[in-house]
Amino acid sequence: MKTYNVGIIGATGMVGQRFALLLSKHPWFNVTALAASARSAGKTYKEAVESRWAMSDPIPKNLESITVMDATADIDTICARVDFVFCAVDMKKPDILALEENYAKHECPVVSNNSANRFTPDVPMIIPELNPEHTDIIPAQRKRLGTKRGFIAVKSNCSLQSYVPALFPLDKKYGVDKCLVCTYQAISGAGKTFERWPEILDNVIPFIGGEEEKSEREPLKIWGKIDGDRIVPANEPKFTAQCLRVPVSDGHMAAVFVSFKNKPPKKQILDIWKSFSGVPQKLNLPHAPKQFLNYFEEDNMPQTKLNRNLEGGMAISIGRLREDSQYDYKFVCLSHNTLRGAAGGGVLLAELLCAKGYFD
Ligand code: NAP
Repeated sequence: MKTYNVGIIGATGMVGQRFALLLSKHPWFNVTALAASARSAGKTYKEAVESRWAMSDPIPKNLESITVMDATADIDTICARVDFVFCAVDMKKPDILALEENYAKHECPVVSNNSANRFTPDVPMIIPELNPEHTDIIPAQRKRLGTKRGFIAVKSNCSLQSYVPALFPLDKKYGVDKCLVCTYQAISGAGKTFERWPEILDNVIPFIGGEEEKSEREPLKIWGKIDGDRIVPANEPKFTAQCLRVPVSDGHMAAVFVSFKNKPPKKQILDIWKSFSGVPQKLNLPHAPKQFLNYFEEDNMPQTKLNRNLEGGMAISIGRLREDSQYDYKFVCLSHNTLRGAAGGGVLLAELLCAKGYFD
């Protein structure tokens, strides 16, 4: 496989640090540019992140001495050094829209973790195992932007990375009618650690700004279809969500209640989860988990601490499937929010785009 030079925009943040770890030893991608705000620009990566490094693995040695650039002021230099960039920044939505489009218009493809472009109709929002065909919208987006190479592709919100993969293959056969979900979300999802957020210890906060809307609305774009120069979101399944912040470092858990148009037997649900695999598994992409959906029979599983790192944090853990008195079934599921839900999902999306030739 050909190798590609890549940049990380937002390299100093929680998701950026995950990108740094995943990409420092990636077989296809070679980090040649790190960028963040003007506050970090001019420092070595080590100087910029040392006091807030939040990962259990150390800062990658091969990235320590790279000088961090200003994502906006140094865009020409960055684009000259890379084949594409990953982007995970904490900025206002209009600023992120402008930044990502600026990179795309510099003929630099952007694989984004930000929410700003998720509902731009010609920007694909992809979970690689579920809707890889949405990459087909990229030529239409390039036409709108007036680019030859440049485009933006995004991954969806971290909150839904457990329950949407569990429901998607069931919907194909049995039609998901409605779904109620409560998520229990880790503090790294807010870019925080326990040291930086002591108020969360012994506490649960029943509000995460914007999260419930994303959890209800984004699945419909994943379920959507390309129609001409846009992706038209589906009208169903119907989702309702409550999202809570809980005192957990990493890993978003979801409690799911679901009803189907045709109620499947429990054994069918378990068989579908066990046998489900997607394009990333067929292509054997470096970050594709071998077994995407993993069901645990034990009543007290999955657990955040025990299961979040399954298959490098890229697999989904499911448990407690049982019939419900109000809905057809209920179950719980779990995914790692900064791996599958953020940087790992971004890297897998980039691997898919790479395998399909979009970075050539
Ligand atoms: P974070 O830890 O607060 O990091 C924010 C990053 O943005 C830092 O690198 C920061 O650079 C950079 N930044 C801020 N202002 C900038 C500017 N004007 N120009 C360039 N860079 C700037 O945030 P995070 O948790 O990593 O989240 C980043 C993005 O990923 C957000 O859009 C978030 O919604 C999304 N996301 C996060 C998760 C998660 O689990 N954490 C999951 C999915 C998606 P400095 O260090 O120089 O300030």
